[in-house]
Amino acid sequence: MNLATATEEDLRLLAAQGAASLEGASARELLQWTEDTFGSDYIVASNMQDGVLVHLAAQIHPGVDVLFLDTGYHFAETIGTRDAVEQVYGVNVINARAEASVAEQDAAEGKDLFAREPNRCCALRKVAPLKKTLAGYKAWVTGIRRVEAPTRANAPLISFDDAFGLVKINPIAAWSDEDMQSYIDEHSILVNPLVDEGYPSIGCAPCTSKPAPGSDPRSGRWAGQAKTECGLHAS
Ligand code: SF4
Repeated sequence: MNLATATEEDLRLLAAQGAASLEGASARELLQWTEDTFGSDYIVASNMQDGVLVHLAAQIHPGVDVLFLDTGYHFAETIGTRDAVEQVYGVNVINARAEASVAEQDAAEGKDLFAREPNRCCALRKVAPLKKTLAGYKAWVTGIRRVEAPTRANAPLISFDDAFGLVKINPIAAWSDEDMQSYIDEHSILVNPLVDEGYPSIGCAPCTSKPAPGSDPRSGRWAGQAKTECGLHAS
């Protein structure tokens, strides 16, 4: 198949074939399939909570494109982790930014939109830049895991992403927290320092707090609001 001219139907077929042939495959096998199928036409998304997925992908594709949603609201530790991941793993980080700066958004929408309309803020600062960036690729790789939240419990390894119109690969969807920690320890993977400070799920600073001990790890995201997801991953 000529990827340059692949239609949505072609990509749906590729996703279905990959999903059928790689059921139960390891993260490395899934990334190798991604590389063999899409060459340089895919991008690996990272929220820079840790470098696990980037490290895995860079073993298969040195210099691979890595997508970071640079919302303008990140913790300094997250920006530092992004810069370290780029340097240490030798990947090509693409910082996807919103059309408007935070100051411009404040002027247009009123200050602190995240506190009043987080869905709109995420739509402007995450979903729109993601959509624009993904339009240049045929597949994207994400680090979502089934154990992270009930909304992710059925995340497939490979699927066609209807929201963004390309193939989506979740190589570590089946990994437990113990699998993650083993990989981090075995390969001395870079981890966002906020994890050790008690943040098991890290997003934008205004919308991330420490969850109560023993509670859902993602309960610190948009705490006190009905919102639980950015809108990047369909449940
Ligand atoms: Fe805005 Fe919060 Fe969404 Fe970040 S997580 S884009 S600050 S609403």
